[in-house]
Amino acid sequence: MLSYDVFEWGKPLKKAERETPKPRGTEVLLRLKYCGVCHSDVHIRDGYFELGGGKRFHMSERGMNPPVTLGHEPYGTVIAAGPEAGDAPIGADRLVYPWTGCGLCARCREGMDNYCMAPRYIGLHRRGGYADHLLVPHPRYLIDAGGIDPVWAATLSCSGLATYSAVSKLNPIPPDEWVAVIGAGGLGLTSIAMLRAMGHERIVAVDIDSAKLDAARAAGAAATLDGRDAEAPKKLREITGGPIYGAVDLVGAADTASLALGALSKGGRLILVGLYGGEIPVSLVATIQRALTIQGSHLGTIAELKAVVALARQGKLRPIPIQKRPLSEVSRTLDELKAGGILGRVVVET
Ligand SMILES: [Zn+2]
Ligand SMILES: [Zn+2]
Repeated sequence: MLSYDVFEWGKPLKKAERETPKPRGTEVLLRLKYCGVCHSDVHIRDGYFELGGGKRFHMSERGMNPPVTLGHEPYGTVIAAGPEAGDAPIGADRLVYPWTGCGLCARCREGMDNYCMAPRYIGLHRRGGYADHLLVPHPRYLIDAGGIDPVWAATLSCSGLATYSAVSKLNPIPPDEWVAVIGAGGLGLTSIAMLRAMGHERIVAVDIDSAKLDAARAAGAAATLDGRDAEAPKKLREITGGPIYGAVDLVGAADTASLALGALSKGGRLILVGLYGGEIPVSLVATIQRALTIQGSHLGTIAELKAVVALARQGKLRPIPIQKRPLSEVSRTLDELKAGGILGRVVVET
């Protein structure tokens, strides 16, 4: 099999050839067809995430050491299964849930691997999808995405899943209540699309870039607000006619979280997704008296990925622009992503 691997943090991926693995135990082997190229792979290749305030999250401190095969949006055909894999769907095409855990703890057995205390994610801790073959630890991580374009399906397992999981933490949202989506980059626009797919319309998008606010309107936001405005809290209240039901913060900076928290009504929820980083003082008494919830949302569960696929299959979720490229161009694609030169998503054909 061949793959394109990180041999040294921050350096271009290099082609690697090795023997195609044979699935053991509950493992299944896929001949991959596609893998989405996620912006987070730029940071992982570089070996760290910038968290703001001078803080960095280093991959090597989290048990990741080169060589690693990135790619956490794989899609392919199941070609072989280990003796304990049960009725693995040999010959069928499947989307892979990449956020696999230890496979043994209570959370993993419930399909909530993203809450496992010993994560073993595909494309981070395990070999990922920038390859022609992929070993998946158990057939329960295979998802039938039949009925939707497989190239698009590949991209649902990261930003699609993460935004679905975040906005669904606000459910059920009464239709006449407002939800703020803070940050209208890729994750913000997908969050708006998810809320619309779930039938919610009263969405106000907040960003500091007017082009992104235009994109938010095109994605289905009912109103937009320039976060640079010194009177942003007051203007938000004018748009929504009062305090809001919930907010999803895709930035995760002190000023965005403060704006959202200050805007919530009693019983309101702030869902934190963005990893910009920072700290805010939180009044314990006000949190109690306003019955507020501040909740982090990280990736999503297997059931949530199935729900995202179902929304896509029902035609409720708008596809994003996708470019197909050969696997050999994956390293160049990461460079272009880093330079900000790609609109929509690149999916490599493996
Ligand atoms: Zn990703
Ligand atoms: Zn586990």
